[in-house]
Amino acid sequence: MFQAKVFTLYPEVFPGPLSKGLYGKALSNKLWELKIINIRDAATDKHKTVDDSPYGGGTGMLLKADILANSIDQNIKNGERIFYLSPKGKKFDQKLAQELSREKSVSLICGHFEGVDERVLTTRNIEEISIGDYVLSGGETAALVVLDSILRLLPGVLGNEKSSMDETFENGLLEYPQYTKPQIWEEKSVPGVLLSGDHGKIKDWRLSQSEAITRVRRPDLWQKYKKD
Ligand code: SAH
Repeated sequence: MFQAKVFTLYPEVFPGPLSKGLYGKALSNKLWELKIINIRDAATDKHKTVDDSPYGGGTGMLLKADILANSIDQNIKNGERIFYLSPKGKKFDQKLAQELSREKSVSLICGHFEGVDERVLTTRNIEEISIGDYVLSGGETAALVVLDSILRLLPGVLGNEKSSMDETFENGLLEYPQYTKPQIWEEKSVPGVLLSGDHGKIKDWRLSQSEAITRVRRPDLWQKYKKD
C-alpha cells in the first residue's frame, strides 16, 4: 500500500480534497494511506515554539532545524524519501509523479513563514521540490497538488487503468480536445471524425490535434517531443 506522510503545522487541512470521490473510496479501501504529522508536537518548550528569526537579519521567521528534525526522526525510517515543498526546489512534473507513485512511502514537509533552517535539509537528506514558479504562503496546498497527481497513478485508484495513459504530459504532448453529448450544441457539432466509428482515423486525428496544440501552446514540450 502506498503511504503518504505529511509534516505540517496545519493538520486540519488534510485530507481535504483527497477524501473526496475516487480518492476517498481508495482511502477507505486501503489502496493508500495518509499519515498527518503535526510538526508542533515535536516542540519541547512550554509554548510549543516551532520558529525563530533568521541569523543575519531579515523579515519573517524560519522553522527551527531541531524541532523539524525531531519530528522527522520520530516518524521516518531510514531509506524513505523525504521532500520539502519549496519554491527553490526541482520542478515537480508528471515524470516525478510517475516515479513517486512506484515508491512505498513518500514524505512531504510543508514549510511556513520564510521557510526552514537549511541545515535540516542536508542532515536529513531531504529533496526539495517546487510546484511552479510562484510563491505560496505555505507548503500545504503544494502537498495536496503533489499527492493528487501521484494518487491518480496508483493501481486501482481511478478504476480505469487506461484513462491516465493518454493524458496530457504522459506522451510528451498536451491532450487532444474531447467532446460529449449533445452532438450539436449552440449550433456547433462535434468533429465528424469522432462519429465515424473508424478507430484508426480517430487515433490519427487525436494525435494530430495533440501535436498542433502542443506546438502552439508549449513550444518547450514540442521541441523535446520532436527530438525524442
Ligand atoms: N522565503 C522563501 C519562500 C517561503 S514561502 C523563498 O523565498 O524561497 C513559505 C512556504 O510555502 C515554503 O516553506 C514552502 O513550503 C511553501 N511554498 C511556497 N512556494 C512554493 C512552491 N512554488 N512550491 C512548493 N512549495 C512552496
